[in-house]
Amino acid sequence: MFKILDYIIGFFSRDMAIDLGTANTLIYVKKCGIVLNEPSTVVLTSDGGKVIAVGKEAKEMFGKTPKEIRAIRPMKDGVIADFDVTNKMIKYFINRVHDRGSFVRPHMVIGVPTGITQVEKRAVIDSALESGARQVHLIEEPMAAAIGAGLPIHKPMGNMVVDIGGGTTEVAIISHFSTAYGESLRVAGDEMDEAIVRYIRKNYSLEIGSFHAEQIKMRIGSAYPLPEKLEMTVKGRDLLKGVPTSRVLDDSVIREALREPIQAIVDVTKRALEKIPPEMASDIYDHGVVLAGGGALIKGLDKLLHEKTGLKIIIADDPLRVVVKGAGMVLDNFAELKRVCIN
Ligand code: ADP
Ligand code: MG
Repeated sequence: MFKILDYIIGFFSRDMAIDLGTANTLIYVKKCGIVLNEPSTVVLTSDGGKVIAVGKEAKEMFGKTPKEIRAIRPMKDGVIADFDVTNKMIKYFINRVHDRGSFVRPHMVIGVPTGITQVEKRAVIDSALESGARQVHLIEEPMAAAIGAGLPIHKPMGNMVVDIGGGTTEVAIISHFSTAYGESLRVAGDEMDEAIVRYIRKNYSLEIGSFHAEQIKMRIGSAYPLPEKLEMTVKGRDLLKGVPTSRVLDDSVIREALREPIQAIVDVTKRALEKIPPEMASDIYDHGVVLAGGGALIKGLDKLLHEKTGLKIIIADDPLRVVVKGAGMVLDNFAELKRVCIN
């Protein structure tokens, strides 16, 4: 009887899976696919009272906002920096995809960074409930990434994921539906952008914005020497003359700028391999390590990690979407996979 009722409710509700990333929020709606993919950014009036923009529109205002307004990335470091803003952001995104006219409230599976506290979990759940959820389950993002990448997390064997996002790099070794080892490092894409800003300032007396640094990283950033030279015109302010200027930089310069954050990611990966039991190490030796998150797209990172660890490195298919895809698979196969949820 309850099964039939569940089926009927499931048929009418817009159940959804959400990847609440430090840089990007994605939403998957059952039977519709990924319907939202926007930066986890909010622009508010400076007294914090009113939301002016959320998502793409807000990211474009970043660094260009006048004094009366401020731009915030509330999940920036993998912890909730500002509960009120996070609450507003979650509600805004859910409301964009949730049809309030629908008479059945949705079930939500939400991916959250591994390090978040009980209080932060409660805040995410409350925001979702206030947005109309009937049931909320949380899943750690590396677990969702492993599921989304198709790793056999149901088997009693070591499955390793390195998820390099905006604010954090999360390393996890998963076996038989649970996390056997996990570490979250606050060095990822944002830190790479900052490293580029610092390096260009120091070596070229050129001041650039972090948004431009991100573009440079994506276009010509790399972790390992490339087969062909890449160049890009970098624009900023000449710190000596105080005027706007530009110059052409190549991939070897940016590789040098990225050396420290990339090294930190290599180190955290190696540390995980040193701490796990030998049986799991041999599984990982046989099956390799999966890279997920936007940082997996840094050119040559797979090559460098292979050189430093001797392991097979596999970049997940569509690494920016693999977490929401995995959370969506949990939603779609909930009876079988609910045990991976953390609440
Ligand atoms: P999060 O899960 O923390 O929201 P994402 O997995 O969405 O993070 O990744 C966002 C990060 O990936 C950003 O720092 C972004 O600059 C970076 N990124 C996206 N595409 C690329 C690319 N092609 N090359 C390098 N970095 C990228
Ligand atoms: Mg992520």
